Amino acid sequence: MSKEQQKRDFIREIIAEDLGSGKHETTVTRFPPEPNGYLHIGHAKAIYLSFSIALENAGTGARCHLRFDDTNPAKEDQEYVDSIIEDIRWLGFDWGENLFFASNYFDYFYDCAVKLIEDGKAYVDEQTPEEIKKGRGNLTEPGTDSPYRDRAPAENLELFSKMKAGGAAGGSAVLRAKIDMASANLNMRDPVIYRIVHESHHNTGDAWCIYPMYDFAHPLEDAKECITHSLCTLEFEDHRPLYDWVVENCPVPAAPRQIEFSRLTVGYTITSKRKLLQLVEDKHVSSWDDPRMPTLSGMRRRGFPPVAIRSFVSKVGITKFKGITDVANLEFEVRDVLNKTAQRRMAVLDPLKVILTNYPAGESEEVEVQNHPGDEAAGTRKLSLGRELWIERGDFELDPPKKYFRLKPDGAVRLKGGYIIRYVGHEVEPQSGEVTEVHCEFLPGTIGQSAPEGVICKAAIHWVNADSAQDAEVRVYDRLFTEEIPENAEGGFLGCLNSESLELIQGVKLEPGLEMVEPGFVCQFERIGYFCADSGDHHPGETPVFNRIIGLRDSWAKKKG
Ligand code: ATP
Ligand code: MG
Repeated sequence: MSKEQQKRDFIREIIAEDLGSGKHETTVTRFPPEPNGYLHIGHAKAIYLSFSIALENAGTGARCHLRFDDTNPAKEDQEYVDSIIEDIRWLGFDWGENLFFASNYFDYFYDCAVKLIEDGKAYVDEQTPEEIKKGRGNLTEPGTDSPYRDRAPAENLELFSKMKAGGAAGGSAVLRAKIDMASANLNMRDPVIYRIVHESHHNTGDAWCIYPMYDFAHPLEDAKECITHSLCTLEFEDHRPLYDWVVENCPVPAAPRQIEFSRLTVGYTITSKRKLLQLVEDKHVSSWDDPRMPTLSGMRRRGFPPVAIRSFVSKVGITKFKGITDVANLEFEVRDVLNKTAQRRMAVLDPLKVILTNYPAGESEEVEVQNHPGDEAAGTRKLSLGRELWIERGDFELDPPKKYFRLKPDGAVRLKGGYIIRYVGHEVEPQSGEVTEVHCEFLPGTIGQSAPEGVICKAAIHWVNADSAQDAEVRVYDRLFTEEIPENAEGGFLGCLNSESLELIQGVKLEPGLEMVEPGFVCQFERIGYFCADSGDHHPGETPVFNRIIGLRDSWAKKKG
């Protein structure tokens, strides 16, 4: 990944300083997803940051851990663990041996909590959740002490072990850190650090019925793994004093430092797991990997190359500035990669029959076409060409505007890689007036040669031989939302779902061979866009199913004017 060299941002500056001053001999980062949903484009930024910092400092022995922050049994699931592993691998990152689960530290968290109690720094609070909330105060008023705040350590220890043993109902008691009820930072007003949850955990089953809160567990997870720089998004900035308090007051093997950066927010996209889950559950999309979803699995199924996603997130930059990143930047990277790498194939999405009147019926020949115009190494392939062909309906105009260079009455056009053909007539459906077929003559000797004297030919169109064409289904995707900030739409993000985000096209004509490609095969359909054989519904040997990855040009730029 040397070409993706990163500019120095403020986080890389801090790490370089810490290595330079000898504060740390190496740097250890982590990516800590909660397995309660699929990864999305925002996570790609965080993954890229922590993993590439480790790669850049590999010479010092740097590493990046993948750690599942699975401390909440209610919403977590093995399905999510598996998908997260697959997605990060696909993005191109490797954690080696360093795969961890916070749930394997439950004993450690518990011991830390006991130590806090013994030191008089934590207490069991038996107020109701409402009372605790009320006692917290607000930004202008200090909190009020819980009546249980000054319980003796011995009593707290007994109550806490009762909680652990299952002798208390969910919500009947919590463990709170004893910090400062008058702190200007609400997170420091005796935060809850343990609660009772009687639910099975995906890893530890029914071994526990008390679970640590994120703000307590996370710094301990980092410390236990000797993370040096714990990189997270800005919403955790106000939690940093608590993070540091936990590290200072618990028995830890190392003191990690939390550094925050701004989240990635992409226009016309949502990056909240809760909202993405709602799209799936309410069936606005078919699944987490629906090709319209901003999830990594959705983008993979759509056909986005992982290198394009890496380029995109590497260029958004690491700052504390909150802004919206133009989704066109992501689309640009996708086009840029595919333009260089995707082989060309012929497909006609909206077919119109062309008959070459001077071509003998029942005969055909093979023409050789390039697989990639910019890359000789991609080679050529042979396409058969006979009397009947399919062309794109939009490539013939009965009443063409000026400067229309494709097929028109009395005009000529080149079949890509084949002959120049010249209009001789057409037929229409009497009722609708719709053109049903176009009659042309082919000009012998024009393959690979320029137009003969007196013939004006300024364009080349794609085509598929009718005899050998394969009927296919194509799914054309567009943005899922019509508003740049979907949450701001009337009715929220569901209020601006793009009703045209999926167009199903049946009866597409493909050149032969495409019915045999493996799911995930990517190519450019000449002059149309980039397409990918669908990983769910395309099966070699059956009717092909292709997803449009993206058009050749940015059609939204035009629409916006
Ligand atoms: P939710 O949106 O459900 O609160 P989350 O997106 O924060 O959850 P986590 O699994 O906790 O989900 O995220 C793992 C890591 O990814 C966190 O460190 C978080 O800071 C980072 N992350 C999440 N969303 C973004 C984003 N949009 N941009 C950059 N980093 C993100
Ligand atoms: Mg989170």
